[in-house]
Amino acid sequence: MLFNLAILLGTLVAMEGVGTLAHKYIMHGWGWWLHRSHHEPHLGVLETNDVYLLALALIAAGLVAVGKAGYAPLQWVGGGVAGYGVLYVLAHDGFFHRHWPNKPRPLNRYLKRLHRAHRLHHAVKGREGSVSFGFFYAPPLRVLKRQLRKRRGP
Ligand SMILES: [Zn+2]
Ligand SMILES: [Zn+2]
Repeated sequence: MLFNLAILLGTLVAMEGVGTLAHKYIMHGWGWWLHRSHHEPHLGVLETNDVYLLALALIAAGLVAVGKAGYAPLQWVGGGVAGYGVLYVLAHDGFFHRHWPNKPRPLNRYLKRLHRAHRLHHAVKGREGSVSFGFFYAPPLRVLKRQLRKRRGP
């Protein structure tokens, strides 16, 4: 049980790394055409960017299926991937972008930093030159602001 829990938590932590890299190199790379909707003003509830969430769900379901078929610990990796997806929706869609009716406010310094960092991610309009690609870890704001200044030029 403890072993499985460790796999689950390890997967959650690892997924932040995977998510950050995917956001930086895939979503702001060749996958920009899907992510683009998220960097433009939109009115509806769904955006093409949600395809990435669907992909995440399929990967999680695939891992659980393979785990069930033989290699049991993979089920917990799948659970971790799914869990990350849920946390992502809560944090990113609910908290960063206030898509939810009760508009939660940042409660502590960690959440405040995450929130501001994601604002800075959206401060750059196009595909290139963005900062802060993570969802649960953000570099210090002064570092991000320095990066933004440098990219914009004098
Ligand atoms: Zn982005
Ligand atoms: Zn966003």
